[in-house]
Amino acid sequence: MSASHTDTSSGTPPDTVTARLEAVRRSILESCAAGGRDPGAVTLVAVSKTHPAEAVEEALAAGQRVFGENRVQEAKAKFPALRERFPDLELHLIGPLQTNKVKDAVALFDVIQTVDRPRLAEALADEMARSGRRPRCLIEVNTGEEPQKAGIPPAELDAFLAACRGTWNLPVAGLMCIPPVDEEPAMHFALLADMARRAGLPEVSMGMSGDYETAIRFGATHVRVGTAIFGARPYPAAGPAAGPTAGPTAG
Ligand SMILES: *Cc1c(COP(=O)(O)O)cnc(C)c1O
Repeated sequence: MSASHTDTSSGTPPDTVTARLEAVRRSILESCAAGGRDPGAVTLVAVSKTHPAEAVEEALAAGQRVFGENRVQEAKAKFPALRERFPDLELHLIGPLQTNKVKDAVALFDVIQTVDRPRLAEALADEMARSGRRPRCLIEVNTGEEPQKAGIPPAELDAFLAACRGTWNLPVAGLMCIPPVDEEPAMHFALLADMARRAGLPEVSMGMSGDYETAIRFGATHVRVGTAIFGARPYPAAGPAAGPTAGPTAG
């Protein structure tokens, strides 16, 4: 959690998915009002990784429709049944994608937020051509230029984006980033939003439980919020806090 995290839970902390979701929605509205943002331009992606389908169902019952998962296998086990009952559900892949899982990912997800290397872009293009399904793609940018982290370095974004559009004809809609855990996220959010604007890309995915209010101020169109909605994860998931330099829960 960043030191600048705004604590919006002024009374007893909410302890159900419904109540926490409500609190996050309120806080998003407040951040939009404070930053002069249109609330309709900010999508809450509820990150349900490691949580059971029952937790997702509770969020669905409370009106949430956009979800994020970071593993193809886990999403495949949880979501097809839910999707039958909620056809307007939208599923985002927010974790690293191996090329041998591209077929499943294209079949399952509506948005792939983690396009991070040429080999993956090419594999996605091949599978989209084969299947006819074209999930929206976001390019993951390694704004902190961390060697252990996935993502395109900022200096290589223009060339990679040109290839995604030209060579591979991918439906690229925006950019996403996961700032370094030990840095103030604001500068990374500002950088990502600026890169998206210059590239003419409408979607900017940034901000997690600890910093989504800041991300909204800097122009996020998608915030990826897990813990603040579903509570602490029952077991560590691969993700931004699980890199070789951080412990499983980053403190
Ligand atoms: C797990 C994860 C999130 C959600 O993190 P919380 O701190 O639980 O809100 C957001 N983005 C990515 C890429 C993740 O892996």
